[in-house]
Amino acid sequence: IVRMQQLNKHFGSLHVLNNIDLDIVPGEVVVIIGASGSGKSTLIRCINGLEEFQSGNLVVDSSELLPYGKSTQALQKIRTEVGMVFQQFNLFPHLSVLDNVTLAPMKVRGLSRDDAISSGKRLLDRVGIADQADKYPSHLSGGQQQRVALARALAMEPRLMLFDEPTSALDPEMIGEVLDAMRELAKEGMTMVIVTHEMGFAREVADRVIFIHKGEIAEQGPPEKLFDTPQHERTQSFLARVL
Ligand code: ATP
Ligand code: MG
Repeated sequence: IVRMQQLNKHFGSLHVLNNIDLDIVPGEVVVIIGASGSGKSTLIRCINGLEEFQSGNLVVDSSELLPYGKSTQALQKIRTEVGMVFQQFNLFPHLSVLDNVTLAPMKVRGLSRDDAISSGKRLLDRVGIADQADKYPSHLSGGQQQRVALARALAMEPRLMLFDEPTSALDPEMIGEVLDAMRELAKEGMTMVIVTHEMGFAREVADRVIFIHKGEIAEQGPPEKLFDTPQHERTQSFLARVL
């Protein structure tokens, strides 16, 4: 569902992504780890066209993204097929929880109001916050807000979900409820790319863990292998710091 070949991304003179090759198959759960500034966010933002890149090939769900944003139509398609959840929840503060979830399906997918509401309620139920539907985001806990953000992304019926440190802004006691919702999603077969510092979660749900160092994929493999017997010195020292 994702084929990235020799992708390069610069911010001015900073070479942020260096010849990245990354293939992701449907149903795969890929966790990306690495030090601050290594390029994790930039990498997943390239996948849904939030960042332009200078060279390389990138096909997402059969749409091709070209370097320098030359691909407007592909971009629109990709934005509707790929869901994203950020560290900051980015909910619409002036809309109720349910309206946050139903807006895009009605506007972009052309769902009727009734259909959007019934599927929106089902999604809120699925992430365990059906009882919060009529509240405003500011009246919810961080963990609840993040689950609204997840339900909102799922309402577009994405073929791929990207997560950029979805639990980093949460109080510790709320991290579990968001990870639980993500774990469920993984079980249901969603294709997911997740940047996280939650190594226990990564070990449990990932099919593959990718360690990024200074804009390069330094090492990747199944979680047991990467966490228990990392091959590269960089991976070893990173894991020694975070585990
Ligand atoms: P963190 O764990 O702190 O979120 P990260 O691995 O997600 O880090 P990125 O956000 O991808 O790292 O950033 C990679 C590098 O690119 C960093 O050196 C960062 O300062 C730089 N960078 C990111 N965004 C921009 C931008 N819009 N303009 C210039 N430089 C940027
Ligand atoms: Mg980041």
